[in-house]
Amino acid sequence: MKNPFFTILTFCSVSLLVAQNHSHLGAQAFSYPDIEGHVTLKADLHIHTVFSDGNVWPTIRVQEALRENLDAISLTEHLEYQPHKADIPHPDRNRSYNLALAEAAEHDLLIVPGSEITRSEPVGHSNAVFINDANKLMATAPEVPFEEAKKQNAFVFWNHPAWHAQSPTGNPVLSDFQKERIKKGELHGIEVINTFDYAEESLALALEHNLTIMGTSDIHGLIDWDYTEKGNHRPITLIFAKEKSLESMKEALFEGRTVAVYNSLLVGKSEYLKPLIQASVILESASYLPETTVLKVVLKNVSSSDLLFENQMEFNFYDSSPVFEINAGETITVHIKTLEKLDSVELKLKALGAFTAPKQQPVIAWEVLID
Ligand SMILES: [Zn+2]
Ligand SMILES: [Zn+2]
Repeated sequence: MKNPFFTILTFCSVSLLVAQNHSHLGAQAFSYPDIEGHVTLKADLHIHTVFSDGNVWPTIRVQEALRENLDAISLTEHLEYQPHKADIPHPDRNRSYNLALAEAAEHDLLIVPGSEITRSEPVGHSNAVFINDANKLMATAPEVPFEEAKKQNAFVFWNHPAWHAQSPTGNPVLSDFQKERIKKGELHGIEVINTFDYAEESLALALEHNLTIMGTSDIHGLIDWDYTEKGNHRPITLIFAKEKSLESMKEALFEGRTVAVYNSLLVGKSEYLKPLIQASVILESASYLPETTVLKVVLKNVSSSDLLFENQMEFNFYDSSPVFEINAGETITVHIKTLEKLDSVELKLKALGAFTAPKQQPVIAWEVLID
């Protein structure tokens, strides 16, 4: 017997179940803790599709971001480099953004409108994000798109300044053009990590000129093929915003509240990098081994970065090297010889994979209350 009402009911409850379990998370989903007073947004603001020189449709970029648990992406198509134009003509340069926006409509993923302003050196490449209209950024003179981006209240950052194709020494060269843009308030950030490359010299420029520290994938192919299959995560920027919204994210970028991340490498200003690492390591337990003054401490790394540390306490470890690693998502036990029984101890570790300035790694402290 066929009962149509029963069939409809069954269909509804199955749909409900599917909706409740609706998730696009892949095996390599990102996870970073919030820091005091801010939510940590995981963003990749430098991405290409077939609407410039990338190899995939914009919807795939949205799906990739959902699989990796990103909070925000920007499809920053080259305005001036359009190798697929004969097959995919698109006089409206906002097309890629609009397709991504439609795909992300049902999801909690922020799509930031953006474009890559593309010239040879010394102008180089820059991304303008939070623009209103990409079409208005098209011009021959390189100054024009920067002026227009400022008019649109966009956040603009210098892309891959150390890229060897534009700087054969592999070092960034701050040209008069960029100096002028900084002076005019038309350039606000700089990539210190782009694709697989990290340039300490770009970090030095960021600190010297008060530019926001950025890390991006600049992906053209598939995230899975270029990063995940090789055991890597894509580089991202962690943005410390007051809330998860476009407006809040933009404010945080202008105020330089970021950390650039690529796997175990973390780069950012001390006031954001230190609390991030502090929140990334949770003290699970601390107690003395029976009849001893050897303190057993269990630590858990809740971030997606493997964290490498060096002991900076006055106390030595009982059984491990002073240099040790806590892999992403894993727990380890260290034994500290405190020589006498204490109620609490300050665990002090230097984060060897983290940089607040070239060759400068932060020391992080945790207050350990002993059972
Ligand atoms: Zn570029
Ligand atoms: Zn690019």
